[in-house]
Amino acid sequence: MIPVDEALEKILSHFDVLEADDELVLDSLGRVLAEDIYSTVNIPPMDNSAMDGYAVQAQSTAGATRSSPNILGVIGEVAAGYLTKEEVMPGTAIRIMTGAPVPKGADAVVQFEHTDEEIRKAQDQPLTEIGVLRQVEEGLNIRRAGEDISSGSLVLKKGTLIRPQEIGVLASLGREVVPVIRRPLVAILSTGDELVDVGKPLPLGKIYSSNTYSLAAQVIRYGGTPKILGIARDNVQELEDKIKQAQDADLLITSAGVSVGDYDIVKDVLARQGEVTFWTVRMKPGKPLAFGLLRLGKSMIPQLGLPGNPVSSMIAFEQFARPAILKMLGRENLDKPTIHAKSESRVKNTDGRRIFARVWVSKQEGQYSARVVGPQGSGILTSMAQANGLMIVPEDVPSVEVGDDVVVQMLDWNEET
Ligand code: AMP
Ligand code: MG
Repeated sequence: MIPVDEALEKILSHFDVLEADDELVLDSLGRVLAEDIYSTVNIPPMDNSAMDGYAVQAQSTAGATRSSPNILGVIGEVAAGYLTKEEVMPGTAIRIMTGAPVPKGADAVVQFEHTDEEIRKAQDQPLTEIGVLRQVEEGLNIRRAGEDISSGSLVLKKGTLIRPQEIGVLASLGREVVPVIRRPLVAILSTGDELVDVGKPLPLGKIYSSNTYSLAAQVIRYGGTPKILGIARDNVQELEDKIKQAQDADLLITSAGVSVGDYDIVKDVLARQGEVTFWTVRMKPGKPLAFGLLRLGKSMIPQLGLPGNPVSSMIAFEQFARPAILKMLGRENLDKPTIHAKSESRVKNTDGRRIFARVWVSKQEGQYSARVVGPQGSGILTSMAQANGLMIVPEDVPSVEVGDDVVVQMLDWNEET
C-alpha cells in the first residue's frame, strides 16, 4: 500500500498549468489570470463629487454657522455623467449630484444636509441662492481622479484568482475579454458490463452508471469541462474505441476495473496503451487506484483510474483529481479546506488506513462538531448526499472517540465558484 500523500505527489508531478485563453469578462469568474493587467485609464477619470450637495470654493464658507449662514449664488446644476461649463467663483455655488465631475473653480462640496436647501424648498423659494450652514475644508467630499486606479499602474497580477470583485475591477477598466488559464477538458469513461445509462430501461442484474454523472459534476464544480465518453463494456474493442475519444482531453478519468479481483480487461488495455501503475492506496474508501500516461494518437494523456464503488470514486476524485484539475487551472492552493471539530461519533480504524468518514458538520456553542451520517459502506451513495464533510481518521489512529478533536475536509465550502 502507498500513502495518500505519496500517490498525490506522484500524480501531480504529471500536471502543469494549462495555456491562456481569452474569455468574456463574466466567464473569467473562478479562473486564474494569465497576464498582468495594467490600467490605461484613471479611475475615477475626473475629480467628482462623493455627495449630493453644492460645489463651492471652501473659502466661501469661512465662518458659516447654522445661525449665520453664508449665502451663495447658485449658478447652475450638474448631474452624474454631465459636464458643466460654468465656473465656481468666490460667493457662488453649483448644485451637484454624487458622481458628477467637480466644476472648474470648485474645491469642495457641501452636502445638502449642511445647507438650507430643505428650508428653502419647504418655503417654495427658488434655489437661486443657497445658505451654507458650516465652514468646510478644501477637498471635502471630492473623490480625486485616479484615487482608485491611476493610469499605467499594475491593477491585477498574473496568477490572481478572479472573484466577483476582480470582475468588477476588470469591468471598471472597460475590459470585455480577459486572458485566463483555460479550463481542462476531462474525459470520463465508466467501465463495466453491469452499467446502463440513465434514461434507459434497467434490465435485471444491471445498475445505472451513477459515477458517470457524479464524476462529471465534480469536474464541473472544480472548474473543468467534462467530456462524457459513456460506458465501455468489459471488452477490449469497446474499451479501446472509447479511450481513443479521450485524445483531446487533458485528463482521462476511468471508473471501475482497478480492484484486485477485477476482470483484467481494463487493466490490460490501459497497460497496453501506456505506462499505467496500479496502486493500493492507504485510504478508506478508495483503496484501489490506477494512474499513468496513455499514448493516444500523438499525445500522452494522463489517466486516472478510480474505483467503481460510487462513494470510493467520489472521495478518490476529491483527493486526486480535484488537485490535478486545480493545478491545471493555475490555482495556487490545491488543498481541500479543512476545519477542526469535535467528533460526535466513534470511528474505528482497523487496518491503518486514512479514513474519510462521511460527516455532517454543524456549529454548536461556537464550536464545530462532526457527526457520522448513515452507513459508511463504499456503495452507500446516499450517505454522501447527507454529508457536508469528510472526517479524517489518520493512519496511525486506531479509533476516534466521541469528544475527540478531529480534522474535517469540507465538501461544501465557499472556495469554488
Ligand atoms: P469494480 O471497481 O468494477 O469492482 O466495481 C465496484 C463496484 O462499483 C461494483 O459494485 C460496481 O457495480 C460499482 N460500479 C462500477 N462502476 C459504476 C458506475 N459507473 N456507477 C455506479 N456504480 C458502479
Ligand atoms: Mg467492474
